[in-house]
Amino acid sequence: MIQSLSYDTDVAIIGAGPTALFAAFECRMLRLDCVLMDVLDCVGGQCTTLYPEKPIYDIPAHPSITGSALIEALEAQLAPFSVPRILGSRVTALEGIRGDFTLTNERGDQVKAKTVIIAAGAGAFGPNRPPLEGLEAYEKEGTVHYFVRKKSDFAGKHLLVAGGGDSALDWALLLADTAEHVYLLHRRDRFRGAPETLAQIEEKVREGKIEKVVPYQLHALNGANGKLDSVDVISLDDTVRKLKVDHLLAFYGLSTDLGPIATWGIQTHRSSIPVNPATLETSAPGIFAIGDIATYPGKLKLILQGFSEGAMAVHAAYTIARPETALRFEHSTSRGQPGETL
Ligand SMILES: Cc1cc2nc3c(=O)[nH]c(=O)nc-3n(C[C@H](O)[C@H](O)[C@H](O)COP(=O)(O)OP(=O)(O)OC[C@H]3O[C@@H](n4cnc5c(N)ncnc54)[C@H](O)[C@@H]3O)c2cc1C
Repeated sequence: MIQSLSYDTDVAIIGAGPTALFAAFECRMLRLDCVLMDVLDCVGGQCTTLYPEKPIYDIPAHPSITGSALIEALEAQLAPFSVPRILGSRVTALEGIRGDFTLTNERGDQVKAKTVIIAAGAGAFGPNRPPLEGLEAYEKEGTVHYFVRKKSDFAGKHLLVAGGGDSALDWALLLADTAEHVYLLHRRDRFRGAPETLAQIEEKVREGKIEKVVPYQLHALNGANGKLDSVDVISLDDTVRKLKVDHLLAFYGLSTDLGPIATWGIQTHRSSIPVNPATLETSAPGIFAIGDIATYPGKLKLILQGFSEGAMAVHAAYTIARPETALRFEHSTSRGQPGETL
């Protein structure tokens, strides 16, 4: 029997995406203990799950860095401190008051914390799955995907990339040279993408690397024991085409359901949590929100903004975790090398 984990800490951080990882670093720089909790079994949030191999161009001091390289760098920055992580289970309950909270996940692990930072991104984020018969078996076998972790998994394969937005277009382009052949399926004639991306798609179509299948929709998966043999697609006038493919990659967006967070008595607005922009505190005293899930006038859903919010929230949380000690602001250059400051 697996024993439930239990921690008593200063700051419980819900999420282990980029903003959570940096907030954990900030906690340790201020000598606050913290625990990271994520429903995914790996750290990195959207960067790891949705676009590990795509370059990000707007991280300060990094002209270009892929999603996975950014997370590796954040992990390296955090490495001098050993921050406990509870991964692979959703935090479902948050109870208590400022200074004394208890968080519980689906597995029954418990964290007692003086303050809480919610860095849960799009909340209980999950892909919008196409309503196809027998889908689950193909998902389990790894022939239907909603994320790409490694381009090399698709080397020499026949792929059907479905969806009309940025993700479908970007992945069709990124996989066009790795895969043997890429079908790009959309229910309309026109794709929604940046003019430059659309021009690159046309280029790949001319080279014969990408074949557009429009206006068609997914209709049926064909195969056995989760191994895909072909996918039937259907047009508006009910014409059915059979596409011989090894993998289906469906990019129909993410559901942005706050999930259990919406039941914790914190004021929410659509799929976000309004916060005081000076402290990142939510409507519930002692509970902060940072990153994509936090909203306030002028908010930009950018990683760099999430980093800044993490630093601000941790400084505000300090007064709750250490009410007896006044926090003296110091630059990291004065605090000294991470790890040696403890
Ligand atoms: C294709 C794509 C390209 C992008 N490009 C850029 C870019 O160029 N520049 C840029 O700045 N931003 C970019 N972004 C946005 C960027 O990825 C997000 O702003 C960033 O990931 C937000 O980080 P976060 O830590 O707030 O949330 P996330 O990365 O979403 O991480 C949140 C984590 O919380 C976990 N979680 C949620 N609810 C719970 C719960 N109840 N219990 C436990 N865990 C929970 C989730 O599993 C997830 O791991 C891009 C996003 C996408 C999808």
